[in-house]
Order: sequence, then structure tokens, then C-alpha cells
Amino acid sequence: MPTRRHILAFAALNAIGRVSASQAENRPRAVATFSILNDLVKNVGGERAEVDALVGPNGDIHVYAPTPADAKTLAVADVIFVNGLGLEGWLDQLIAASGSKAPVVVATRGIHPRKMTDEHDSNRLVSDPHAWQSVANAEIYVANIRDGLSAADPAGKEFYQARAAAYLAALDALDLEIKAAIATIPPDRRRIITTHKAFGYFGDAYSLEFIAPEGVSTDAEPSARDVANIITQIRTQKIPAVFMENITDPRLMERIAEETGAKIGGMIYSDSLSPPNGPAATYVDMMRHNVRAFQRALTS
Ligand code: ZN
Repeated sequence: MPTRRHILAFAALNAIGRVSASQAENRPRAVATFSILNDLVKNVGGERAEVDALVGPNGDIHVYAPTPADAKTLAVADVIFVNGLGLEGWLDQLIAASGSKAPVVVATRGIHPRKMTDEHDSNRLVSDPHAWQSVANAEIYVANIRDGLSAADPAGKEFYQARAAAYLAALDALDLEIKAAIATIPPDRRRIITTHKAFGYFGDAYSLEFIAPEGVSTDAEPSARDVANIITQIRTQKIPAVFMENITDPRLMERIAEETGAKIGGMIYSDSLSPPNGPAATYVDMMRHNVRAFQRALTS
């Protein structure tokens, strides 16, 4: 028999439901491993899902050192979104330590990974994890996020589908905008130096060549020989511009610019968003900011 308390609680829930889905008792708690993925999850989850990131704005996910607070965040998660492709090397241990039994959704599932030689072992191929740097890939992330949220919160399925569809339309427009911006750059100037190899997917998708002294991770400093090779390459190929990344030490790029006369094209965002008041606080703003920086440096 339902008690008076049950009935009151049910009435209260109903009232909440009429106000807004955001105030429902059962908001799923989602955790994303880093700020870019966090923004994609928030765009699909809207006010219905509670979303936290482990590695925040300007953080370097390659060399992240998890904290006890991260284990607590994971322990109460209903669903965990990860990039995969080897990006979060520290995560399995953290999940085990947290005791979390939440499903882990790999946002890059279904993406065709770029393969590169491992900097630590030239006989080994590794996957390039920076798949979000192509908008077509980000659209695959969004589909996986939609399905992951729907599985964690079946009552919200239609909500997530509608949000994902609207966001995918915005990403289609962003993709066209990037292609139009790149089309203004003369093909013989489409070469850029960045600190680490984070823009391979961008280069493949939008016909730009990226060269970097550091590998696909930021865990090792480039050797003197790597830097000397880049300097020679900039001179012989007349590469117009070098860029700083928000997650890496700017001094190496400053030195390379000084020795080669290449101009510094400004700050770009590779693996992490800017803080909310910065120029790359969302995925869309990040991609837009980066392509404008490339365009400015290579067309002037
Ligand atoms: Zn990276």
C-alpha cells in the first residue's frame, strides 16, 4: 500500500518534472576525462546530465597525475566518457582505485585511427589519439556520447537524441566554415610548426601540413637533433609560421622562431580548452580560433 509519504514524494517528483528535466532526482552523473570531451558531453547532456571533467582547461592530459578527488568523482559516476586510442594512460588504474563500476564509453569508437611510429620505439606503431581535431570525427564522438547517455539514462533518450541532432547540425556548419577558411590559404603556404604532433587529423581533414619537434605525446622533450632537424626544415621549406600550444612550454617555439625567422602565429589549443573567459572555451570556439590563427599567419 502506498503510504501518505510515498504519495507526497511522488507528487513532489511530478511537480519537479513539470518544472524542468534539470531538477529531476535522477540526473545521471557523467564524467569526461578532459575538457574538450567534457564540452561535447555537455552539449548532448544539456541540463539533464551532470557532467564533470578530470583534466580541466589548459591541462595536459598526456602527463596528468590523478588526485584523490578524481577517484571520488569516478566513484559516484553513472557513466565515464574516455577518448581512448591510448590518450589516458593513467585512467585504468584510477578507475580500479575508485571502485567505480560505471560503464566506460570510448568516444572514438568507430573512428579510423591514424597510425604513427612510437617515439620511444621506432619498430612500434601507435595510434594518434588527437581524433577530435577533425570535425567529422567529433561528430562520431557525439553519436557515441548520445548512445552512452541514453544507455545510462534511458528515460532521457529522446532528449539526448534531440540535443545531439541540433549539435551535429552546428558541427556540420563548423566543418564547412573551416574548409572555407583553409581555401583562402595558398596551397604552397599550408605548412605549420607546432610543439607536439596533435594536429595530424586536422591536417588530413583540411589539407594542411603540420610539423612538430615533439611526438604524439608530450611526455618526452625533443632531442637537440630533433630541434636541429626542424630548424633545417623550416629554412629549406620556407615554413612561414610556428605556433605555441596552450598546454606546452612556449620557450622551444620562441627559440625556433628566433633561429629561423619564422613568425610566431600565436597561441593555439591542441588538447585542452581555454578557461571560460578565454578564446577557446568550447570545442566549436577552439576549432574556430585555431583555424583563424592559421589563416591569419599564412595569408599575411
Ligand atoms: Zn597531445
